[in-house]
Amino acid sequence: MAFENLTERLQNVFKNLRGKRKITENDVLEITKEIRVALLEADVALPVVKKFIKAIRERAIGTEVSEALNPAQQIISIVNEELTVILGGGEAELLKSPRIPTIIMMVGLQGAGKTTFAGKLAKKLKEEKNARPLMIAADVYRPAAVEQLKTLGEQLDIPVYDEGTAENPVNIVRNGLEKAREERRDYVLIDTAGRLEIDDKLMDELRQIKELAEPTEILLVVDAMTGQVAAQVAKTFDEQLDITGVIITKLDGDTRGGAALSIREITGKPIKFTGTGEKLTDLEVFYPDRMSSRILGMGDMLTLIEKAQAQFDEEQSVKLAEKMAENRFDFSDFVEQLDQVQSMGPMEEIMKMIPGMSNVPGMDKVKVDPKDVARKKAMVLSMTPAERQLEVELSPARRRRIAAGSGNTFIEVNKFIKQFNQSKDMMQGMMNGDMNAMMQKMMG
Ligand code: GDP
Repeated sequence: MAFENLTERLQNVFKNLRGKRKITENDVLEITKEIRVALLEADVALPVVKKFIKAIRERAIGTEVSEALNPAQQIISIVNEELTVILGGGEAELLKSPRIPTIIMMVGLQGAGKTTFAGKLAKKLKEEKNARPLMIAADVYRPAAVEQLKTLGEQLDIPVYDEGTAENPVNIVRNGLEKAREERRDYVLIDTAGRLEIDDKLMDELRQIKELAEPTEILLVVDAMTGQVAAQVAKTFDEQLDITGVIITKLDGDTRGGAALSIREITGKPIKFTGTGEKLTDLEVFYPDRMSSRILGMGDMLTLIEKAQAQFDEEQSVKLAEKMAENRFDFSDFVEQLDQVQSMGPMEEIMKMIPGMSNVPGMDKVKVDPKDVARKKAMVLSMTPAERQLEVELSPARRRRIAAGSGNTFIEVNKFIKQFNQSKDMMQGMMNGDMNAMMQKMMG
């Protein structure tokens, strides 16, 4: 996966901060110097690195950090926030035209992954939005591009308009659009030609197609593996065509990933999706905040939670999330959750999905022991409804009664209540989008 080296280097930088009660201006300069080197090595463009480092220094040298209870964590928060900004701030959704069809034009260099992305997007629109897309094969120069799109169309059961490779692409697009209107298609995806390098003839052709089709989206597809070149290519395409968004492909490869960090800042255009493999399902919506925490090695908690939720009972999950958000999560919910976690499979497997977690001492030994779950359930069953719903203070007398009623010791009951409170705090932190609680765990 991309960013591995960057993540490792950044984690090392933060490790040196661990436990520091005070962070001096010198410390900040030292850390930002190291972050700078790490970013340059990851192939992030120099102007972007400079801007990023400047923003971090300005904030990290200010009162925000010097007055923080845990300055190290505060610095990580700042880096996380600024990285999210560089990556675009919030999610940029795929635009939709008020009139049908919504026309989406893919552009990019040859081999970037345009045709593959057209297939992935068509599949997504069809499955998630119930759309009826039509794809137009207008890449008549790359050998086999038309055939490749037709094969994808067959696989997905989505029509592809083509006129072979002898026709002029502008005419193909004109005829394809006519067909889409006749059939009242709601989306049209145009796969245009690329070249090995940018040239005037290609840009001319793309401009003509743009004028004719008036697309709602012009999505530039770039290959993350091309590093610095990707950012340069993006800049030129944007100047020439005024693109509406960027797709970064091949983020699954062993790339340094810098392109993803440079492109938004250099073009000002949002990254909308990333390609993470050759299969048609290997497409991810781009969320700057999730990417940032992934790069910082804090794990992609939200994707993980989504994955977990897919296994959970939908209604139950919504109910739990609401309770967490309103801080109404109680003992009964805790037991319910233990049951769900248990049904997800071995905890070790889940922990592996959270990169930062593997660094936490003892995390590798975390196991959900069915006997332990049963013991905790017994304790909750021995509580009165008011106790379960946190309506009364769990006094020592009450704890003793719970211990006796559930066949546990007083100490075990105390331990359980402490654990419950800790999870509650951590969940509260996560629900508030506040990574601090999590980082506290990670930094020790
Ligand atoms: P085009 O010339 O821009 O249309 O490029 P293609 O769609 O033909 O893609 C070029 C190559 O990259 C093909 O072998 C694809 O399978 C591969 N490819 C495309 N997207 C991804 C991706 O996200 N990850 C990986 N690993 N390979 C990809």
